[in-house]
Order: sequence, then structure tokens, then C-alpha cells
Amino acid sequence: MKIGIVGAGLSGIIAARELIERGHAVELIEKSRSVGGRLATRRIGEGKADHGAVYFTVRGEDLKQDVQAWMANGWVTVWYADPYPRYVATGGMNHLAKHLAEGLPVHLNEQVEAIKAENGMISVHTNKTIRHYEKLLVTTPLPQTFELLGQLSQDMNQSLRTLSYAPTFVGLFEFMDPIKVGTEGIIDQHLERGLLKVINNRQKGISTTNLVSVYMDEAWSESWYARSSEETLQEIERLLKTVTGEAKIASKQLKRWRYAQAREVWRAPYDRLKQHPVFLAGDVFLEPDDPSGRTRFESAYISGLRAAEAMDT
Ligand SMILES: Cc1cc2nc3c(=O)[nH]c(=O)nc-3n(C[C@H](O)[C@H](O)[C@H](O)COP(=O)(O)OP(=O)(O)OC[C@H]3O[C@@H](n4cnc5c(N)ncnc54)[C@H](O)[C@@H]3O)c2cc1C
Repeated sequence: MKIGIVGAGLSGIIAARELIERGHAVELIEKSRSVGGRLATRRIGEGKADHGAVYFTVRGEDLKQDVQAWMANGWVTVWYADPYPRYVATGGMNHLAKHLAEGLPVHLNEQVEAIKAENGMISVHTNKTIRHYEKLLVTTPLPQTFELLGQLSQDMNQSLRTLSYAPTFVGLFEFMDPIKVGTEGIIDQHLERGLLKVINNRQKGISTTNLVSVYMDEAWSESWYARSSEETLQEIERLLKTVTGEAKIASKQLKRWRYAQAREVWRAPYDRLKQHPVFLAGDVFLEPDDPSGRTRFESAYISGLRAAEAMDT
């Protein structure tokens, strides 16, 4: 079967691998110039900083088995355990996405603009061309999915419209000299209001330079969303200094995620349109018995897997 996948984040990549394994002809369409989505790593000078997912944890058997294989390949490693392991990708989280997507047919730099049902096929209209598929999987955050589906969104489960997403700001700071952030390179407790996590990418093992990623919490990110990037970065720096003191900063930049995390989750690992072979997946779709109830790396992974299994029937 010819299957298209919109979005080459973790859920899209995992679905593509599974569908290809099951003998289907799959294509991923990704608007960015590289795969990974929210598994994001930025190169700054000679160093690297993660600015999306910080680490991931493993609860279910499906991911557990794959993680063992990824560790054997040297793609992931345990950063620290407190008490359960926090896994990180060697060389930054985006590298894991790149390893997993190796050999997959991905159309990069191609933005999907509309999805339509035409002549018994699903047509995907992009900024470059129109592609036709027998089945389609859409893995973009739900507000974007609704927009892309246009008329077809009337065929979606309308309760999905009630789910909302929170933004997140991440400040990236390069220090002149080595600094220490906690014993492991992370502080996520007893921080000034607004700060969620402060991460030292060097201590984390992904950077040779002194790059610190500062994750702001949901409420702070929301309240600062309309302000200018300059003003926002300045305030993050002020808050960071309550951790790093007067250590000298060489450069700084800001990452703004509009749809960082869903505030509410959907208690099924994927959804499908009632009348058309269009499936929806992504981290917001959780298995009904998911013990954590949170969107995360593992929920994206499971959603991609379950959607692929359902599309194979
Ligand atoms: C700041 C931040 C911190 C996080 N920290 C953690 C953490 O510590 N632990 C954890 O487990 N999880 C964390 N997460 C969540 C984790 O990163 C996500 O759950 C997971 O990566 C989502 O994968 P996905 O495939 O569902 O979505 P995405 O990664 O968002 O993939 C969707 C893809 O669709 C593409 N796309 C969008 N629109 C279009 C279009 N029109 N045409 C073509 N392509 C399009 C996007 O570019 C993207 O590549 C964090 C997320 C953020 C943002």
C-alpha cells in the first residue's frame, strides 16, 4: 500500500519504520530541513545544545526493547538515574532521530498546506507539489492538523478540538569558562519562579563547549509569549544568573516553541477519520492505561507504533 506520513518527528519516524517493515511503500513529508521535530539539537560554534526533549524515560515493554538495541548501537546512553534511568542520545537528541530515520524516504523542506480526499485517494498539497496516497498518517500537533485537514476536519472526532497546547521558551547560553550545574548537569528544583530546568550540555555529555539550556515553565512562557525575543532573552538571563552567578556569558539565543506540550491528553494511541483513511498520531495520543498521563517521548513512540499497526489492516 502507498502510505504518506506528514511530519518526521519521533511518531512519524517510528510509524514509517514499522510500515516499511510490514511491506508498505512509505513517504514522510517534513517541513523542516532535518528530521526530529521536538527532538531538537542546535549546533552553536563548536558545541551542541538540546533545546527540545531533555531526556526520556521508559515504562513500557515496546520502548524498553528498542532502547536496549539503541544502547547496543551506541545511539543512547543513561545520563543519570534518580531513581529510574534518564536516557539521552549520544551527540544530542536530534541525532537519535537521524539514526532512526536513516534510509527512510523523507521529503525535507516540504511544507504540507492542505489535505484533501480526491478520486478515492488522499491528496497532500505541499508548497512544492501534490502527492497522492491510499492512506495518510498526520503527526503534527492537533491545532496544525485541524488546519491542514480543512473540510476533512469535520470528519474528525470533534472532541479533539478541546485539547490545547502550551508554549515553551528555551534560552541557550554559551559561557566563556566551564561552569557546574548541579552534580549531573541538571537543576530542576528550588529554582526562581518561571525557571523549569537548567541544563549544562557539557555535563550532559553532548557538548565540548559550555552551553547551558534554560527551560521556562508553561505559565511563564505563556505570559511572556507576546513580548519581543530580545526582552524575553534578557529576562531569562536575569533568572539564570540566580543559578550561575556572575559567570561570563559569550553568546545567547532563544528558541520559541508554540506547541511544546499538550495541556490535556487523548486516551487512545491514535485516531482516524470516520469516512476517510486518514489517521492521526503524535505524543498527545496516549494508551488508555498509560500510567504517567503525560505527553512525552514515549507517548510519541507508542502512538507512531500503534497507528502503523492499525494502518496495516
Ligand atoms: C521544550 C521541550 C522539552 C521537552 N522535554 C521532554 C523531556 O524532557 N522528556 C520527554 O519525554 N519529552 C519531552 N518533550 C516532548 C517530546 O519532545 C515530544 O513528546 C516528542 O518529541 C513529540 O514527537 P511527535 O512526533 O509527536 O511530534 P513532533 O516532534 O512535533 O513532530 C511533528 C513534525 O511535523 C512537522 N510538521 C509540522 N507541520 C508540518 C507541515 N505543515 N508540513 C510538514 N511537516 C510539518 C514538524 O516540523 C515536526 O518535525 C519536550 C518537548 C519540548 C518542546
